[in-house]
Amino acid sequence: MCGIVGYIGAKPASNYLLEGLFRLEYRGYDSAGIAVQSGDTIAVRKKTGRVGQLAELLKASPVTGTHGIGHTRWATHGQPSDNNSHPHTGGNGEVVLVHNGVIENYATLRSQLQELGYVFHSQTDTEVVAHLVAHQLEEELKLGADPDSNATYLRAVELTLKQLKGTYGLGVLFRDKPGLLIAARLGSPLVVGVGKDEHYLASDASPLVGYTDKVVYLNDHEIAMITANSLEILHRDTGSQTPHIRVLEQTASDTELGQFEHYMLKEIFEQPTSIENAFRGRLDDDEATARFGGLNLDPQELRRIDRIVLTACGTSWHAGLVGEYIIEEFARIPVEVEYASELRYRNPPMSERTMVFAITQSGETADTLAAMRECKRKGHPTLAICNVVGSSIAREADGGIYLHAGPEVGVASTKAFTSQVTVLTLLALFMGRIRHLSYPAGQRMIANLRKMPDKIRQTLECHNRVKEIARKYYTAENFLYLGRLHNFPVALEGALKLKEISYIHAEGYPAAEMKHGPIALVDEQTPSVFVVPRCQIYPKVISNMEEVRARRGPIIAIACEGDDKVAELADDVIYVPDVDEYLQPMVTSVPLQLLAYEIALLRGCNVDRPRNLAKSVTVE
Ligand code: GLU
Repeated sequence: MCGIVGYIGAKPASNYLLEGLFRLEYRGYDSAGIAVQSGDTIAVRKKTGRVGQLAELLKASPVTGTHGIGHTRWATHGQPSDNNSHPHTGGNGEVVLVHNGVIENYATLRSQLQELGYVFHSQTDTEVVAHLVAHQLEEELKLGADPDSNATYLRAVELTLKQLKGTYGLGVLFRDKPGLLIAARLGSPLVVGVGKDEHYLASDASPLVGYTDKVVYLNDHEIAMITANSLEILHRDTGSQTPHIRVLEQTASDTELGQFEHYMLKEIFEQPTSIENAFRGRLDDDEATARFGGLNLDPQELRRIDRIVLTACGTSWHAGLVGEYIIEEFARIPVEVEYASELRYRNPPMSERTMVFAITQSGETADTLAAMRECKRKGHPTLAICNVVGSSIAREADGGIYLHAGPEVGVASTKAFTSQVTVLTLLALFMGRIRHLSYPAGQRMIANLRKMPDKIRQTLECHNRVKEIARKYYTAENFLYLGRLHNFPVALEGALKLKEISYIHAEGYPAAEMKHGPIALVDEQTPSVFVVPRCQIYPKVISNMEEVRARRGPIIAIACEGDDKVAELADDVIYVPDVDEYLQPMVTSVPLQLLAYEIALLRGCNVDRPRNLAKSVTVE
């Protein structure tokens, strides 16, 4: 979580720092701050609340200087408050730093530092890092280290990092060494932007867009020594590294709101294109299969695979559940979907023929990264299904499939979900075709996939109808979301969307499972959202609807166009186009995204910045 920015060059630093923080705000937004250095003075401005509030503070109390660091916080240790906001200061102001991550042994370090006389001004784990760097620096100088040499400051950071347990992305300034910025990474992403006689630092590439297109991604255990015109990277074990400069492909318009009021709405409406981008260039008509550039496994190896594990968190985990059904159906390979946060500490028996896919929008989700590493350590081919090019998971995986959905800024994931589902469908086709799936069946899948962008366009026409329904139900305090087979994960995802952005309690369940507990929640005030397009067990879902109706529960149904039977049973129906059953999740999830969005708006919630959440969860 959280966003880090840094700048070192000839321009006023605060401009980039502030704009960068605005762009990173989706990563954390309970407080924000910057530190800007001018000579041997480091001015710190920080404030609880959104980046806009920091901007106000800076207007009233500006800072000048040509290098600095900034931070948007997603609190892990200590509540959001001005004092707990970053940057934090160490010693008597010799060190100022920003941190993303969690220092697990902070309590022990804090007592040790307090015994040495260091005074703490916050409850954060981060402040111990600031004091520890200051302490190590003092020790180095006492031993005769050269105060003018960058190496002295590097050494203080290195000695500090050796004592930390946990994760960090760090940006550090030194009062007595103007013109030097040190960054370090373990478990929390950092990228350095390379300009002409200037360098930038950021948690992800979005703040760099428009400033530079040359980037260097830091790896775990790397430290970057950055000045305006030099960049040196050192790895804990292998020493000095040649910076690997990559070209950034993102453009500024990718992250602009355009005609939309919120990123979430914009991203919902981008789905016809994002789905198309997910299959563009990957459909092979001659062979009736899908093709991927980056799996890095030959067909022989792939044919040996007898089990697939999909691991993910949150919405990506729901996409994995959709994938499970499709892959099992078309490729006849057993699939399990594992919460990454569980898998990383479990030790399930997995043979060498098990292939693991980590599914993640950001490519930085800490639990997913850790689960992937654990599987990799045990020798399994480990691949990524991920949106952000160059992200940690994309880089560490043995291979993978990019979503090509473009930046997703809304904290509640929408287009990434449908793109993940698209990619998993392609994977089912591909794995199916090297095993049992027939040529005509492969052709049919391809033809159906090609129709999806238009089907999603048609689905989006339900927006006005969804608005009416939202007005009717937005005051409800509980919702049930029910669906079966391919639409069971859609029910889970619909409930999650509502919880995330409207703070209404919602439960997603397999429709028939409802009888085993959640039906007790049904009353006249609790709407049930049934995802009931025509499918193999359509009559069974209709019976489940009857059960709810018998208990006077209001019913909102997502059904296929022209379905009069559902119209008789439900209080309100949202119609979607009829598509092949295994492709229904792409279509049926769209009205549920819109429903959550409209309800959240009516309840006055901040759709793009829901409370307590942040976009990519880079802490455990
Ligand atoms: N653990 C630190 C804090 O609570 C950093 C959190 C973050 O990554 O935003 O301040």
